[in-house]
Amino acid sequence: MAGIVVVFDFDKTIIDCDSDNWVMDELGFTDLFNELLSTMPWNTLMDKMMGEIHSKARTIEDIVEVLKHTPIHPRVVPAIKTAHALGCDLRIVSDANLFFIETILEHLEIKECFSEINTNPGYVDEEGRLRITPCHDFNKYPYGCPLCPPNMCKGLVIERIQASVSNKKFIYLGDGSGDYCPTLKLGNRDYVMPRKSFPLWDLICRDPLLIKPEIHEWTDGEELEQTLLKLVHSIMTEEESNNSCLVSAAEDCKFQTISVAAHETFPHVLPVPQ
Ligand SMILES: [Mg+2]
Ligand SMILES: [Zn+2]
Repeated sequence: MAGIVVVFDFDKTIIDCDSDNWVMDELGFTDLFNELLSTMPWNTLMDKMMGEIHSKARTIEDIVEVLKHTPIHPRVVPAIKTAHALGCDLRIVSDANLFFIETILEHLEIKECFSEINTNPGYVDEEGRLRITPCHDFNKYPYGCPLCPPNMCKGLVIERIQASVSNKKFIYLGDGSGDYCPTLKLGNRDYVMPRKSFPLWDLICRDPLLIKPEIHEWTDGEELEQTLLKLVHSIMTEEESNNSCLVSAAEDCKFQTISVAAHETFPHVLPVPQ
């Protein structure tokens, strides 16, 4: 296992659109969605829209079918599979929902590559309606993070992951303003990969001195693959050379022990001339 945790945002990072908008557009609910957006938080609205979709007799199968056609750059799946095969611990931190994300990952046959999906819960109730609930209960934590939407602070999630692993380097990939808070939690041994000319990149560019991790931008799936795998390889090479330094230090140490021991025993072994 490489000492690398790769954290992916989902919308506009793994897939090439926003999954919520994609489902609204494809099922013809965009106008209603936009109309209601000013009246409630996004996450609450998504749950309401699922009720609207259900009441218009659109089924879960209709939603699944739409999700299977979500646009994705052809190099993203190979990038994920390679990083996983190299032993990286891959995780998702997303403000979409678990039902959309799992459906898409299963369809792409890459769900098993991820050790963890942190997102808003999503499940189908007994009436066949999709329910979407907040990642963090914002009634319980009303004074949340000033940088993040009320339902999810990705920075909190990153802090939890950081506390659960030891001595690993993080690579964080994202595009949105919600990816800025977790970026601020990364240390100077970590890496952030913001999508160029997207909100996260704009926020980083505004004051790069606030950012501790090394910054590597990317524009599309092809550059995501190249940049990510280059970083993984260079971290692994560095790890290997550190390990071989440790081995050679241990060998030096052993050699010294032997020679000291030999030196000490030397007078006793030599026959004393009579
Ligand atoms: Mg995103
Ligand atoms: Zn936050």
